[in-house]
Amino acid sequence: QADLQTLATIDGLTGVYNRREFNRWLHIEIEQARRESHSLSLVMVDIDYFKRLNDKHGHQSGDIALRWIGALLSENVRPGDIVARYGGEEFAIILPQTTEIEALVIAERIRQSIETQPVEVLNQQLLYVTASLGLATFPEETRDEEELLRQADCALYRAKQAGRNQVQHAGKIPV
Ligand code: C2E
Ligand code: C2E
Repeated sequence: QADLQTLATIDGLTGVYNRREFNRWLHIEIEQARRESHSLSLVMVDIDYFKRLNDKHGHQSGDIALRWIGALLSENVRPGDIVARYGGEEFAIILPQTTEIEALVIAERIRQSIETQPVEVLNQQLLYVTASLGLATFPEETRDEEELLRQADCALYRAKQAGRNQVQHAGKIPV
């Protein structure tokens, strides 16, 4: 039985934090990073060709894929990291005390983890999906929450443009 607090903070479909709770945590964690002078990274994860999956296999299978990604993301990061559903097929991960290079390692681990294992949708069908990831780091390239979100989104857009199933980042460090 979910209590009211849970209903208000958790995305009903996937079980990870909802967008409102994500915004609340991002604010808290940025203030903390500012006070303690350490880095914070934000990773945006967007499932590739999700609409095609929905059209081809149905919305129920789409929902199963979303739940699977939510669980996979949660299992692949540490307890202090914050996983949320940001929009339709887009997820966000706040990585407190994490530099851009560390975030790249984590994002790449997540990308591979999605690519290499299938999700079982309706009728025991096994589907392989991929995701595109964009990340940005505070305070290296960004001064505030809005800029961090914008930069991570921009990196995600570049990952899509460059062919999907890849990680792009806002900073200048070579990978
Ligand atoms: P956890 O801290 O909740 O991490 C969950 C999963 O996130 C890990 O599962 C791993 O897949 C990924 N992960 C987290 N941090 C790292 C990292 O620095 N590098 C890599 N490559 N992956 C990471 P895994 O590996 O099955 O570990 C399960 C649990 O065992 C972890 O849960 C943690 O509690 C513990 N653990 C495993 N290795 C270490 C370690 O080297 N040091 C510490 N302190 N705990 C560890
Ligand atoms: P690594 O996998 O190359 O990770 C390098 C550093 O990235 C880690 O240094 C940590 O600062 C950061 N990092 C990696 N994954 C995560 C994550 O899921 N969440 C957060 N918040 N930070 C992450 P650290 O802690 O000194 O760990 C050194 C190495 O120890 C890791 O190198 C990895 O080889 C191993 N390790 C530590 N914890 C785990 C774990 O839970 N599972 C596994 N499989 N390996 C771990």
